[in-house]
Amino acid sequence: MMAVTQVGRYVVERVVEVERPYAPARDFFPDLTQDMLTTCLRELPGGQLTTEGRLQMSFHSFVVKTGRFTILVDSCCGNDKERPLRPGFHKMNNDFMGALAKAKVKPEEVDYVMCTHLHWDHVGWNTRLVDGVWKPTFPNAKYLMSKTEFDHADATYRSGKKDTHTQAFEDSIDPIVRAKQAVLVADDYEVDKGMSIEACHGHTPGNIVINIESEGQCGVLTGDVLHHQIQLRYPEMSTTADDDQKLARVSRMALIEKHAGTGHLIFPAHFPAPTIGRIEPNAAGGFRYDTDAV
Ligand SMILES: [Zn+2]
Repeated sequence: MMAVTQVGRYVVERVVEVERPYAPARDFFPDLTQDMLTTCLRELPGGQLTTEGRLQMSFHSFVVKTGRFTILVDSCCGNDKERPLRPGFHKMNNDFMGALAKAKVKPEEVDYVMCTHLHWDHVGWNTRLVDGVWKPTFPNAKYLMSKTEFDHADATYRSGKKDTHTQAFEDSIDPIVRAKQAVLVADDYEVDKGMSIEACHGHTPGNIVINIESEGQCGVLTGDVLHHQIQLRYPEMSTTADDDQKLARVSRMALIEKHAGTGHLIFPAHFPAPTIGRIEPNAAGGFRYDTDAV
């Protein structure tokens, strides 16, 4: 699906790498009881969970055209990446570049790549394998990263820790630094008029969200502050992927409270289609995701 959404003069388009069932919900959300899962299976719209309770997840980027700049937000998992600890994502071969071409974006036209955080599934297409060497996919882009987030990921990588995130640092972040295309920014950096980042820590130590405000309309690219609609029905649910589950809960609940009932558009990093929606209070408790009028 290639729906284009406008936030004032900003045009936002979802570019999908892959959408498919992921982990069982109760593995990913350790505090989710069987009763809560049953409620979600009953109340959430179709396509959010498999009948056996696995999460349907999308891995996609958002292309934001500001009028001045073409910006790619979160670069998914990438092709050819060694991810032996994530067998379902090991040495993938997806037509992400074809999907980008359908959105009428040529790699050399991308002005900025922005990562809401530096986990492996948000930095993958930062680079691609060219003659056995990881090269920046977007040769003319500045890759904007929160300095707080980069410093943490860099320190973890240098500590010698071996996991999927440090592997991603090696093949998808370090080559960007070496190519001198990485730009480390403060937690209130404004990319273009009305589009700026905001700290929303917890999922990772330097996690950010990206706010867009234009011509009276507002949108927020939430990265992994929200992983799934389950977290709207039950906002207190943190995930095993959250670095600090308590802080992630506080940040997520504040974000939900801020945007619920406001009409602001939400652009989450992993919600399956229809991905873009609005947060509304839910009569039965918690909140619900309204994608109807988007
Ligand atoms: Zn993610």
